[in-house]
Amino acid sequence: MQVKAPRGTYDIMPDEIYKWHQLEQIIRTTAETFGYAEIRTPIFEHTELFERGVGDTTDIVSKEMYTFLDRSNRSLTLRPENTASCVRAFIEHSVAGGVLPVKWYYMGPMFRYDRPQAGRYRQFHQFGVEAFGSDNPALDAEVISLVLEILANLGLQEYELHLNSVGCPECRELYRQQLISHIRPVKDKLCTDCQTRFEKNPLRVLDCKVASCQEAIAGFPNMYDYLCPGCSKHYSRVQSILTDVGIAYIHDNQLVRGLDYYTNTAFEIMIPLIGAQSAVAGGGRYNGLVKECGGPQMPGIGFAMGLERLLLAMNSQENSRTNPGQLDVFLALLDEKNETRAAHILSGLRRAGIRADRDYNHRSAKAQMKYADKMGARLVLLLGEDEIQKGVVTIRDMQTRQQSEVSNEALIAAIKAILE
Ligand SMILES: [Zn+2]
Ligand SMILES: [Zn+2]
Repeated sequence: MQVKAPRGTYDIMPDEIYKWHQLEQIIRTTAETFGYAEIRTPIFEHTELFERGVGDTTDIVSKEMYTFLDRSNRSLTLRPENTASCVRAFIEHSVAGGVLPVKWYYMGPMFRYDRPQAGRYRQFHQFGVEAFGSDNPALDAEVISLVLEILANLGLQEYELHLNSVGCPECRELYRQQLISHIRPVKDKLCTDCQTRFEKNPLRVLDCKVASCQEAIAGFPNMYDYLCPGCSKHYSRVQSILTDVGIAYIHDNQLVRGLDYYTNTAFEIMIPLIGAQSAVAGGGRYNGLVKECGGPQMPGIGFAMGLERLLLAMNSQENSRTNPGQLDVFLALLDEKNETRAAHILSGLRRAGIRADRDYNHRSAKAQMKYADKMGARLVLLLGEDEIQKGVVTIRDMQTRQQSEVSNEALIAAIKAILE
C-alpha cells in the first residue's frame, strides 16, 4: 500500500519553494529593520509549558495539541504556537537580567489537530514577534505597524485592523462578573461550545461565530466601560499614536482573543482578499505571562501571523513574482570524450558561486537545450570537439539568443558579467 502524507500536512515542492523564499526574505528583512532578532526554539516542549503558557481552557490546549509520551514516559507536545516557548527561553536564559526590552522574532512550523480547510493545516507556518520588558504603549503601536509594514512590503495594501483592550486582571474581573450576570439568563440558548466557555472563560462567548449566540447575548456590557484608569490611559495612548501615524483601526469590543494571558491591547488584522472573517495576524499584550510561566513580573507584547494565509492572499492578487529558476548555467556536453574538461568547468563555476549543472542522461544536443530551458538556465555552455581544439567554450544566452566564444581562462568572468 502506498503511504501518503498525513491529513492536514502537505509538501512544498521545489517548483513552489521560491514563493516561500521570497515571503520569508521580505518578512525577515522587515522585522530586522524594526530591531527584532531571530530566535529558534525546539519543535517540541514539555506539555506543561503549553498548559500554563497558553491556558488549559483554550481550544488549543483542550482539543488541538499533538501530545505524546516519549520512551521515558515524559509528556511532550509539538508546539501549537511559539509564544510559550519564547517565554520559557526568556526565563531559562535569564534574559530579564540584561538590557531591556528584548525584541525577538520567530518563523517556522506549528502543529494543531484542527479541521483541515482552505489555508488551514495541521502542520502550518507562523511568523511572530515577542517584545519583553516594556509597558510603553508606543511599543504596542510599533508592533502593530510592523505587521502592516510586512503586509505593505508583500504588496498587500488592503487590510482591516481590529483593536480592543482586554484590561488587566483587576478590571477584567469586574467586567467578567457583569458579563456573567448578562449571559446567565440566556445561557440555555447558547451553542454547546459556548455553554462550556460560559463556565470556564465567559469572555470567549463574545467572539463565538454562531449567529444564535450573538443574538442571545445582544446588548452585552462593553469592556471599554469597565477599564480601570491605568488600562484606559494605556488604550487611549495606543489609539492616539496609531492615529498620529495614519493607521486606521476599528474599535472591536468583541475582540477578546482565545488565550488567557492577554492584557490591555488586543488586535487582529484581516485581509479582505481572503475573506473578512479570518484574521491573517493577531496579537496583543501579555503582561502576566512571564510570571505565569515561573519568571519575574515582566511586561510583554507580540503577535503571530499565518504564512499559508499570507501566501493565499498573495496568490489571489496580480503580482510580478516569478520563479528565479534553479540554474544559472547549463553545460551542454556534445561529445562524451570531453567529460574531464566538463567536470573541470563545472567545478570552477560552482566554486565561483554560479548555479551550474549538466546532462547526465545522454540526451541529444537538441534535448539538452530543451532541458536547460526547463531548468530556467540563463546561459548554456556548449562544449564540443571544436571548442576543445580551440581552447574555448561557446556561451549561448537563452534570453537574447546570442552566442559567443570565450577562452577557458576568461569564462567565469564572462559568465558573471552576463548574469549581473
Ligand atoms: Zn485595568
Ligand atoms: Zn456559541
